[in-house]
Amino acid sequence: MTENSKINFEDTATAFAHKSDAQLRKSHLVFSVMDYPFIVKAGTAVTNAALAMKLPVKGLIKKTLFDHFCGGESIEGSEERMRRLAGAKVKTILDYSVEGEASEQGYDDAVEEALRVSDYSKQHVSIPFCVIKPTGIGSGKLLEKKQKGEPFTPEEQKRFDKIYERLDKIVAQAVKNDIKFMIDAEETWYQDVVDEMVYRLMKTYNKEKPYVYNTYQLYRHESYANMVKGYEEVTATGCYFAAKLVRGAYMEKERERAEEKGYRDPIQPTKQATDEDYNKALAFVIDHIDKFAVCAGTHNEDSCQYLVDLMAEKGIDKSDDRVYFAQLLGMSDNISFKLASMGYNVAKYVPYGPVEKVLPYLFRRAEENTSIAGQSSREYRLIQKELKRRKGK
Ligand SMILES: Cc1cc2nc3c(=O)[nH]c(=O)nc-3n(C[C@H](O)[C@H](O)[C@H](O)COP(=O)(O)OP(=O)(O)OC[C@H]3O[C@@H](n4cnc5c(N)ncnc54)[C@H](O)[C@@H]3O)c2cc1C
Repeated sequence: MTENSKINFEDTATAFAHKSDAQLRKSHLVFSVMDYPFIVKAGTAVTNAALAMKLPVKGLIKKTLFDHFCGGESIEGSEERMRRLAGAKVKTILDYSVEGEASEQGYDDAVEEALRVSDYSKQHVSIPFCVIKPTGIGSGKLLEKKQKGEPFTPEEQKRFDKIYERLDKIVAQAVKNDIKFMIDAEETWYQDVVDEMVYRLMKTYNKEKPYVYNTYQLYRHESYANMVKGYEEVTATGCYFAAKLVRGAYMEKERERAEEKGYRDPIQPTKQATDEDYNKALAFVIDHIDKFAVCAGTHNEDSCQYLVDLMAEKGIDKSDDRVYFAQLLGMSDNISFKLASMGYNVAKYVPYGPVEKVLPYLFRRAEENTSIAGQSSREYRLIQKELKRRKGK
């Protein structure tokens, strides 16, 4: 046991110190509306309809949901938010959260945006990582076809090769800019192909230090073993391995598809099994930290506590560049700001993009923060607690 072993994640004074009273009241309003599942459901449909009819709802969304969960409409437009985070020692991972056009042109545009982020990040020490979604730069259908082992036409082969070329271009630039690079995980039906590409990148770019990070979703029963296998394959070539560890965001979709197509459900049987594998993966990383770097992408307090304890046991410095904690902007400030105040490396995913184009992202966050079985979200409860504390001062 260490002095760290009981982190006070209820310390709302630290969690919300970066927010003025007015900002906190605004967050409170946003969460109080999101607390009602039927409003979120109706609101999503109404907003989509209103936008389709060109009704002026953009301003309202921008001042509420968008302002809470996004940095701005562009990289530069997110600067004020990044500065506020940096003021509390919390770093930024700029996430272009626009679900772009699924076309070769759309993928090329995403590469250009990624290069802009990379060059911008170079000038800003508070941006340690760049990040990209595989389907932002290539067709999910094509990746799936490859995973199934189905033959490509020459034209498909060309488009498939282009996916790796795009990744390679962005990573080469990130490495030149001395920025770490994470590839998000999406659906299981093409993840093996993504893994292979990322290992190839690691063997090229992780020679001197771990720049390229693959993502493992520990809600999959295969992920822990996949991560260990990947680690062995990459480190056998003398290169560093690096992973972003998450639980996974597509559970329902994965289960529905498995049932529909009649294959084994790729998801763990219980939440507890996911939690256990998540922590097992953290322990593996820390045990192999000489050749392994990690970013724990989680809002789970127990997992953060566990990683902190593992670091202390192994004598790893809090600010060791090989260990990062990451949360989404507007969520789990009680974890991010607390850990940062204690000296750990913490970064927030800061989504950005034009309001109307980040709506799917905003609706997902709204759904995640509605009350479940009549119980308000943790975020809402903590904001209420902090408002009460400030009032009583
Ligand atoms: C910085 C950051 C980056 C992320 N990047 C990605 C990414 O690249 N790819 C991706 O898929 N997700 C990503 N996520 C989302 C992540 O996968 C989780 O959905 C989200 O963070 C909630 O999990 P949690 O660890 O915060 O904790 P918790 O709230 O404790 O866990 C909730 C999660 O547990 C799992 N779970 C819930 N119920 C069950 C059940 N019955 N059986 C099995 N498992 C269950 C699900 O994964 C669910 O999302 C990211 C999250 C963060 C914070």
